[in-house]
Amino acid sequence: MERSLITVVIPVYNEESQICENISVIRQCLAETGMEFMILLVDDGSTDGTWSRLKMLSEDIPCIKALRLSRNFGKEAALCAGLEAAEGDCCIIMDADLQHPPALIPEMIRLWKDEGYEVVEGVKALRGNESMIKKVGANLFYRIQSKLSGFNMQQASDFKLLDKKVVLAWRSMNERGTFFRGMSAWIGYNRISIPFNVGIRTNGVSKWSLFNLCTLAVKAITSFSSFPLYIVTFMGVFFLAGALVLGIQTLYMKLMGIALSGFTTVILLLLIIGSCLMISLGVIGTYIARIYEEVKYRPRYIVADEIMSSEDHLSEAEAMGIWPKEIASLHRE
Ligand code: UDP
Ligand code: MG
Repeated sequence: MERSLITVVIPVYNEESQICENISVIRQCLAETGMEFMILLVDDGSTDGTWSRLKMLSEDIPCIKALRLSRNFGKEAALCAGLEAAEGDCCIIMDADLQHPPALIPEMIRLWKDEGYEVVEGVKALRGNESMIKKVGANLFYRIQSKLSGFNMQQASDFKLLDKKVVLAWRSMNERGTFFRGMSAWIGYNRISIPFNVGIRTNGVSKWSLFNLCTLAVKAITSFSSFPLYIVTFMGVFFLAGALVLGIQTLYMKLMGIALSGFTTVILLLLIIGSCLMISLGVIGTYIARIYEEVKYRPRYIVADEIMSSEDHLSEAEAMGIWPKEIASLHRE
């Protein structure tokens, strides 16, 4: 008898309007797999009634564990908290708003269990009702990111199944500023992609503003590539070459007595070189800021509270056929 335990990690931030319904949909899909499972909800410092909903869920239904972070640390930190606390043989990471279709879970588990893949990644075939600016921005970002990091992350999503080995490998990565999609690609292992269409968010709004997305993009690029730093050197070499050509030409004209007194070239050069210097300083500053954040070595998140479904739910779970009888009796012993 197989006794695989699957932990489903779900970051939740201000989702009170839909979390209960969505969890019941996810549970139904998990029950179809016939495996033992645990739903690990990470409340990322919600300011609405999300935490009380999670408490209700843990009182009403089995297999629920919830962590509450002490404030809103962001989705990446919430994912870290979930992955650190996950137990069992594999871990599925998905959003709370059903934009990652739970109907795909049985297929993900089949690929992991029967075909031996250690990472099953959901890739976005269609990006749902995202705004044009987000679609174009995401496309541009992933193109640059894939070129710079050497990992193809086009259409990547956080909807993934990770084997226990992969979760353990992920935990050994100690950086403070995490980028889950990039880190899980960096880890390697035997992987397969399955395409999915991003669902439409039925309730609430996306928590990712354009500013948040840009910050994440800068974080992702700076954690996976030092190339922007080299651009500064390339620019320096480029301008040195230009300066040599211009210098020789100016000297020649001076010697021939045909030098014209004009400010246009001087002003243009000043402006161009000035902007390049500013951008270069900005790039270097961004990396220094990242180093500063890393050396402070603060925790990635702080867990303020923790709740779990009680053991009394076991019989209910068994009655619902969520846990096979043998496992239920094992748990009782
Ligand atoms: N989320 C989170 N912390 C945040 C923002 C979002 O835990 O600071 C969660 C959110 O509850 C959802 C998932 O991350 O489960 C994806 O967020 P959202 O749907 O807002 O992003 P989008 O789908 O627009 O990328
Ligand atoms: Mg969403």
